[in-house]
Amino acid sequence: MNSELTRLSAAEQAAKLAAGEFSSRELTQAHLERIDALEPAVGAYLNVDHDGALAAADAVDAARKEGAALPELAGVPVAVKDLCCTRGQVTTAASKILEGWVPPYDATLVANIRANQMPILGKTNLDEFAMGGSTEHSAFHRTANPWDLERIPGGSSGGSAAALAAYEAPLAVGTDTGGSIRQPAAVTGTVGVKPTYGTVSRFGVIAMASSLDTPGPMARNVLDTALLHDVMASYDPLDSTSLSDAPRGMADVVRAAQAGMDLKGLRVGVISQLDGGEGYQEGVVDSFHQALTLLENAGATIKTVDLPHLEYALDAYYLIMPAEVSSNLARYDGMRYGLRVEPKEGPVTAERVMAATRGAGFGDEAKRRIILGTHVLSAGYYDAYYGSALKVRTLVQRDFDAAFADVDILVSPTSPITAYRFGEKDDPLTMYKLDVTTIPANLAGIPGMSLPSGLSEGLPVGFQILAPQRKDDRLYRVGAVLEALVNERVGGALLERAPQL
Ligand code: GLN
Repeated sequence: MNSELTRLSAAEQAAKLAAGEFSSRELTQAHLERIDALEPAVGAYLNVDHDGALAAADAVDAARKEGAALPELAGVPVAVKDLCCTRGQVTTAASKILEGWVPPYDATLVANIRANQMPILGKTNLDEFAMGGSTEHSAFHRTANPWDLERIPGGSSGGSAAALAAYEAPLAVGTDTGGSIRQPAAVTGTVGVKPTYGTVSRFGVIAMASSLDTPGPMARNVLDTALLHDVMASYDPLDSTSLSDAPRGMADVVRAAQAGMDLKGLRVGVISQLDGGEGYQEGVVDSFHQALTLLENAGATIKTVDLPHLEYALDAYYLIMPAEVSSNLARYDGMRYGLRVEPKEGPVTAERVMAATRGAGFGDEAKRRIILGTHVLSAGYYDAYYGSALKVRTLVQRDFDAAFADVDILVSPTSPITAYRFGEKDDPLTMYKLDVTTIPANLAGIPGMSLPSGLSEGLPVGFQILAPQRKDDRLYRVGAVLEALVNERVGGALLERAPQL
């Protein structure tokens, strides 16, 4: 019985909790048992909070018994990426430099989750400071893809994606700076949304590149993703870029779309620059085009759209992002919190402690980006690199504005390839190039969703939907319809085809 509970969707879990079919303690316990059984193989979590999760579950159960009016997701457990601060619970960003650090406060999105009375199962693994796309660059351990334990689960929110795909959590929080929600969702057959920048507060989310960082929801289906979106989104005066009119009410949009199953009048633009070609796996492109046919059958019109400056988006991102990384990561100095390493010999000066701490505490990828970022911001190179990249960013934003004058959504494959084997892409440049499909949305601050479109050589393929700023509802409307059509074509939810762990 208990392992069956973990197979239910979050919406089903919520409905059955409300109907009194089982308690939040039973539900949370079922997930903890599955976590304990599978973690040696999957490694989705950096730490699991058995006691905290069960205490939160008991509190909901008690409130329900007393007849309290509860939020829809009350009692449904959730996993949180270890980039988000959780008061009293270790938060590391998967870096040695924060090993053992216990935040004295909650990230706003975590506070929102607690206000909705959702037990937090634990903190999920990531590439150190969210830099990467494979979760191989965690300082602690790698995470396996439940579809094939020899393959990467994507990244940097790979722990959250793997926890969902292994049924170790029904809902999970991710963050997306250049694709870190959408790409892991794509390669694990799950759903992930990068909301409009400013929808979910960044307060208490350890900063990578602040003008791009976007926390968002991940789940096994579109409705569950929408339910978590509505919990996470809020206006937050503690984040100066927070939107006062953050898009919410996404679950209602999904339910209406599922009832109507109609896309009549929807104008879909296929981004010509991201529609296959060099570096794209054939099965990925085939699956993408099959999904386009499904959209067309549901009444959408499809046309090809050119975004001429997309060609330069990747380069701009890999200048702007490290520039912001280098300044954000300057705070890890061994003085105030986190790791402190004193020089082995010689005087203990502030500068020498910083050098020893940062040398020992950061992994190679973090160091690479700090050095690159410091270089592009240095007096002699600022205009040539950082300044030019900002101009390209504006051009990319204008391309999107122009495109959205003609179409309602833009689409592409989420990732050019499916999950690859550990160690297969070990040089940084090869890894960076795989972000070509996801990065433009971050530069433009627009919302994006990845949902499964099918399989290629037995592995899941992700379909990406992009919409104008604040039009997150379009992702959910189209995603809900496409999900149903894909499920109909493959005969059930794609994830059911994953090898059973
Ligand atoms: N893979 C991208 C990078 O390495 C995206 C990371 C992210 O979105 N956090 O920068």
